[in-house]
Amino acid sequence: MVKAVVGANWGDEGKGKITDMMSEHADIIVRFQGGANAGHTIVNNYGKFALHTLPSGVFYSHTTSVIGNGVALNIPILSEEIHSIVEKGVPMPKILVSDRAQMVMPYHILFDQYEEERLGGRSFGSTKSGIAPFYSDKYAKIGFQVNELFDENALKEKLVRVCETKNILLEHLYHKPLLNPDELFDELMKWKEMIAPFVCDVSNFLWNALKEGKEILLEGQLGTLKDPDHGIYPMVTSSSTLAGYGAVGAGLPPYEIKQVVTVSKAYSSAVGAGAFVSEIFGDEADELRRRGGDGGEFGATTGRPRRMGWYDCVASKYGCRLQGTTDVAFTVLDVLGYLDEIPVCVGYEIDGEVTTEFPVTGLLEKAKPVLEILPGWKQDIRGIKKYEDLPENCRNYVEFIEKQIGFPITMVSNGPGRDDIIFREK
Ligand code: GDP
Repeated sequence: MVKAVVGANWGDEGKGKITDMMSEHADIIVRFQGGANAGHTIVNNYGKFALHTLPSGVFYSHTTSVIGNGVALNIPILSEEIHSIVEKGVPMPKILVSDRAQMVMPYHILFDQYEEERLGGRSFGSTKSGIAPFYSDKYAKIGFQVNELFDENALKEKLVRVCETKNILLEHLYHKPLLNPDELFDELMKWKEMIAPFVCDVSNFLWNALKEGKEILLEGQLGTLKDPDHGIYPMVTSSSTLAGYGAVGAGLPPYEIKQVVTVSKAYSSAVGAGAFVSEIFGDEADELRRRGGDGGEFGATTGRPRRMGWYDCVASKYGCRLQGTTDVAFTVLDVLGYLDEIPVCVGYEIDGEVTTEFPVTGLLEKAKPVLEILPGWKQDIRGIKKYEDLPENCRNYVEFIEKQIGFPITMVSNGPGRDDIIFREK
């Protein structure tokens, strides 16, 4: 059976921790979308790790970590990540990379930087990892799949063709140095060496694993609101962040996805530009940012300070619905223990009317938060193992939000570690 761990919001909900925890009972963990533009922070017995490409299950020796065809594969980063975890004493993980995954090319990263420079103040706040140019090329059908590394003549020819197109833009739009197909070819031959031991027909591997009754975990990156179709377009990412896309990005039958664990943090944070209705500013935001996550709310990939806000029930209800949520994992609840009162966004006021349905981008930009204030619990809840042992106001906060979003919160995370988790009956 297949389970998915995905985000309800803007990303950074704590999916890495939940995947790491759920990996204990899984056989295979698959990344099915996104690239090295975001990261998961995981704290376990080996130390603290920021993973960008490897699935969060790599720390268990019984699991196989899979990079699916839907991922934007950055081979040097993957290679570095493998080295860095092995260096810290983690046993060499079993890793498989889809022969149909496409590669983030060196020029994708350059084009990402050049385009952000060109846009100046109107930029998307890209992490400049090459993700948007990568997916543009994939759908323009000029991308390179991993298997193409193994047909050198065809690869050489295609590189010449692709460089011609790219060089027109480099010369006339960006005024930057041109690409040399021979140099690119040499680079790709190094990548071939790095990736060769891992390449496999992933969909077939997963198909057989399912027949053998194995448990597969799909690990999403970012969250619903960054989905290119259902998110805050155009301030979104370039590949679908939805559990449903897991079937495509891993090559699995959609009917096999039986559980969708949607992760939602007990307050909001976002990176990059775009409407963020429940956003807070100034000292209030600084304090939450400083106390948030595990060591502050700063991007795992970029170190950028995250934008902060109160919990947004409108966005989360929508985020959970689009994921097809069976379970909500409500994370980082421990961080809110310092507040006397906790505002929660329960509606959006748009042109004088209040709605609880998440609107399209144009309307979202006009939305003002309707806040309800709940009492805080003023207590450290880390280490608590049973839901009944949480302070009453804390339980009321969880249950209030559960009612607003309409999906069952079956896991409450009260610390960054694997064991900091409280299970609840549906
Ligand atoms: P992801 O991309 O969704 O995996 O999220 P990130 O890893 O970027 O952000 C989650 C951060 O919160 C990480 O630093 C985690 O270690 C931390 N974290 C996860 N769950 C909890 C929790 O319940 N409490 C606290 N304090 N930190 C948590």
